[in-house]
Parts: sequence; C-alpha cells; structure tokens
Amino acid sequence: MADTTQDGTRTESSTPAGNENGHGPNTSIVLHPARRANSGWLRNSFLATGVAILLSPLTLFWPSAAPIDPTDYAERTRRVLRSTPLIDGHNDLPMMLRVEVHNRIYDGKVDLEKKLLGHTDLLRMRQGLVGGQFWSVYVDCDANQKHFEDPSWVVRDTLEQIDVTKRFIAEHPKHLQYCDNAFCVRKAFKSGRIASMIGIEGGHQVGGSIASIRQVFDLGARYITLTHNCDNAIGTAASTVAAGNADEGLFKLGYSAVKEMNRLGMLVDLSHVSHQTMRDTISVARAPVIFSHSGAYALSKHLRNVPDDVIRSVKQNRGVIMANFVSKFLNVDHPDQAGIDDVVNHIFHIAELCGWDCVGIGADFSGTQHVAIGLGDVSKYPALIEAVMERGATDEQVKMLVGDNILRVWAEVERAAKGIQASGELPVEEEYEGRKWALGLKGDPWMLRESAMTCVADANVRGAW
Ligand SMILES: [Zn+2]
Repeated sequence: MADTTQDGTRTESSTPAGNENGHGPNTSIVLHPARRANSGWLRNSFLATGVAILLSPLTLFWPSAAPIDPTDYAERTRRVLRSTPLIDGHNDLPMMLRVEVHNRIYDGKVDLEKKLLGHTDLLRMRQGLVGGQFWSVYVDCDANQKHFEDPSWVVRDTLEQIDVTKRFIAEHPKHLQYCDNAFCVRKAFKSGRIASMIGIEGGHQVGGSIASIRQVFDLGARYITLTHNCDNAIGTAASTVAAGNADEGLFKLGYSAVKEMNRLGMLVDLSHVSHQTMRDTISVARAPVIFSHSGAYALSKHLRNVPDDVIRSVKQNRGVIMANFVSKFLNVDHPDQAGIDDVVNHIFHIAELCGWDCVGIGADFSGTQHVAIGLGDVSKYPALIEAVMERGATDEQVKMLVGDNILRVWAEVERAAKGIQASGELPVEEEYEGRKWALGLKGDPWMLRESAMTCVADANVRGAW
C-alpha cells in the first residue's frame, strides 16, 4: 500500500522533496542515461551474455538452452523466468477484497481467474510469469488512536485480512500455493503454481505487542513492515519525518520487536520507516532485512526511498531492497512521467552501491493508483526484465533480481532463527512504556505475596475492582 487519497494527502503525497541532510531537490540530481541511448551497457550485455553462453555446459547438452541472440531480450526473459521464480515483495489485493466486497469471496462477484479492473488477477499474473507473491494484509492506521493504549479495530481487521488471504489462496489451488518458508516457494514454482506468502504492512497492525508478533507469525505472516504511514510502538515512520517531525528512529520496544522477529525467523521489512529507523534496525539486526517495496532516495528525494548510506549498509547486512513501481516514489518531481526506465534506474543504482545480490522487485500493485508508464499491471513484469537486460544486466544478475535474492535472504533469516533458538534464547516479554494491564476482580485471591500491594498501587491499570 503506497497511498490512498486519505493517506496520501496526509503523508506520502505531501512529502517535501528536501531531506534531513538539508539537500533540496535540486542539489543532488543523479543522471542515469536512458537505456536506448547507452551503448556501453548494450556492449557489456553482448559480451557478458556471449561469454555466459559459451561457458555454460548446458549449451552442449541441453537443447532448450541453445544459444540465442543476446539482444533477444524477450526470449532471454522467458528463459530466466522459466528457471527462476519472479517473486514480488508487495501486492495489496487483500485490501481490495476488504474494501470492495467485505472479504466475501464465494458469492461469485469476484473471479480472480478473469480479468478484473484493477492491477491484479490470476489471469494477468500468469501472463506476467509471476512465480511468487508476498500478499500484503494491509490495514490503515487508525486516525482516532491517539495513543497505543487506545482501543482500535486494527488488529481485528488484520486477522481478517490474513483469513481472507488464506481463503483466496485455497480457493485457487491450480494457480496458488500457500507458503510460509523459502523452500516451499521453489517447490510451488516447480509444480507450476504461484507461491503465495503473507506480509503485514505496519507495526501498528500488531497493537504494540510482542506477543501479537509471535501470534501473527504462527498464523503464517512472514514479514512485518515496521511502520506504515504512522508511528507505532516500534518506531518512526517516514511520513512522520515528511510532515516535519523529528526522526526518532527505532523506539525501545522496536529493538525488542526486531530481536523477537529474528528469533522467530520473521523477515524485518523497512519500507515505509524513517531513515533513522532503517539505520537503527540494521545496526542491531541479527539477520538480513528486506525493503518489500522501496526505491533509491538519491534518484528521487521522497523520504519513502532508501538513502545511499543505508543502501551500502544493506550490503553488509546481506539484505534485499525490492524496487517498487509507484510513480511518485520513482520520480517525486514529475510522477506523471515515471516509466520503466525510472524503475531500471532505481534497480541499477541499488545494484551499483550494494551489488546485484541485494536487489529485488516489489511493485506495490493494487496499493496505489499510479504506477510507472509501461508497468500498468501484473502482466508487465517481463517488460521490466527485458529493459533491465537491455540496460546490460546478465542473465545471472537478473535471476538474482527476480527471485534468488529474496529467497536467499529468507533462507538466511530462517537459519539465523534456528541458531538463536538453539542457543536457548527465550521469547521477548517487553512491553511499551505506559502499557496498562487489567486489574483482577475485587475479592479474588492473590497468587503472589507482593501483588496485593503493588497491583493496587500500580498506575498502569485499567478496569475496576
Ligand atoms: Zn506501502
């Protein structure tokens, strides 16, 4: 979810082009040549592809890998996407089901196997050669929730989004395979189905509770974006800084959340968080992080994008930054002109600073109205891959971009968790400052000798006795 009219007006759409370092929009323009004008990339492409083909033993023994014209980008793209699953980091289809049909999927109003009006349906995912999808179970920030302690519908609606996502996956077994681990994705791809994973887009969706993080993990959620367009008990959002407030980074409970997500083996997603939250998180993460749908700040000065120092630190962290297709993030100055070349620019910028083993794709389809020209729906991924090849990427680099990187990161996160759990580290029991707890009924017996005094004296209680 990039924006809604409401959210966008309040946050992302209103993000100023300046940044916390004092650079305005005109002070650090990075020029990237248009792909058709760049003969250098093209020449490298010929050489790299030619060498790769000559060296490959498969060309001798496997007729289907017969050498092809390296400038036949469409055929190269088909070959790559037949061998490597293209995994998109973020799609908001579950939100559309909630908003438009109140999660009723059995009455025939929505047929995902036919062409729908929005960006996403199974018909066009197949055309787009999609191999895996993280479905975002996004629920808005609750504007009426002034403090973490205020009651809200957000956690309930999140549970419902997880529920409807699992139900629509189960409803289309010919096309979709539910996955909660990296190995499953490869298996689903081999069986000809689109691996379907669940990601939660905002720490507000777990109600400021580490126990809730454990529970949504048990329900199958495999990443949490630490914030959406509001601060929560975990950390500062990019939108908060865009609105002129201080960047306070990761909060105390946020450190505990990251610690617990690493222990669980849950991907920590840093799209939507402030730049300092990115830095703080990476400084303590015990496993690679992801950005499920982000761009490069140096190319487009929107605070949702990732600054260069963070991109470099992701290299050390071994994480992945999945490039999004959202117009205003791609080109904050002229979003109406954002096109495929802009997405390629962001991918190449990240690859230049971080290496090809830390780029990915996270379009944000169905989460925004405005996507790059030429990438209008889920059938268009091959067009992007062809453009990346035309710019000079080798087939091996493209394989990393489309799926190998996110799967490698996920497997590393799973391995790190196994190690942490084997060390005997216990689940985190921290809470946010000011958390209130219920008081028992008057006259109930006490379990602990000191409770009779401390509970009654405790200011952080709610309810009565
Ligand atoms: Zn988003």
